[in-house]
Amino acid sequence: MKVLRFMTREGGPLTGWLQDGQIGLLEGNLFEGYQRMDPMIPLERVQLLPPVLPGKIICVGRNYPEHAKEMSVEIPKIPILFLKPPSAVIGSGQPIEMPPQSTQVEYEGELAVVIGKSARHIQPDAARRIIFGYTIANDVTARDLQRSDGQWTRAKSFDTFCPLGPWIETDIDPYDVLLTTHLNGQLRQMTSTRDMVFPVFQLISFITSVMTLEAGDVILTGTPAGVGPVSAGDVVKVTIEGIGELISPVIAGK
Ligand code: ZN
Repeated sequence: MKVLRFMTREGGPLTGWLQDGQIGLLEGNLFEGYQRMDPMIPLERVQLLPPVLPGKIICVGRNYPEHAKEMSVEIPKIPILFLKPPSAVIGSGQPIEMPPQSTQVEYEGELAVVIGKSARHIQPDAARRIIFGYTIANDVTARDLQRSDGQWTRAKSFDTFCPLGPWIETDIDPYDVLLTTHLNGQLRQMTSTRDMVFPVFQLISFITSVMTLEAGDVILTGTPAGVGPVSAGDVVKVTIEGIGELISPVIAGK
């Protein structure tokens, strides 16, 4: 099932499910029980919102060997974790704003995991049970600030630096899906998620050995090789097989 949040001309935000280009409302609570109404709203008539408003966003650094190589850094022996603030989240179609503090803003296409229930100390073979579904993320990064600051909080945390969407797919296998990123229509990143250094269930086990995950939390699982800069006027599109396309125009910020 594809789950999305959206606005219509009459208002919102609303939560729905998508079937053949038509949205049906989901009534109730996404994580505790809901009812599916018949699809009757055309997708092209709505404005997409981020499919979830996460309490926290946990990111994994250098989780594809070829990306570690292009950054001239070692492949990590244990996952490198960092956080992005929920205030950075935007939906598909909403613009990434270039902050004036940076001259090198880069895209990072990533598979994102949406957590479905509160969990701590989860073994990899039990991880599937706490996952609600998967979406697409762009871990937008001010690469110059990431280098000059020595730690990553500022570089990863500007408003609009976490496009998420277009919706959550509850039924894919995260172990071998194709991820591509296009900048202005040109292919820049292409990999299978099977190339991850630490696959999804192992990441969940590692993260829950550190902190409690809650329903709605999101994990960004790292970017493959091919990251690069964007400028105002560009359009970044991250596609994951079985989920869809996350589209982000880039504009000058203030
Ligand atoms: Zn990243």
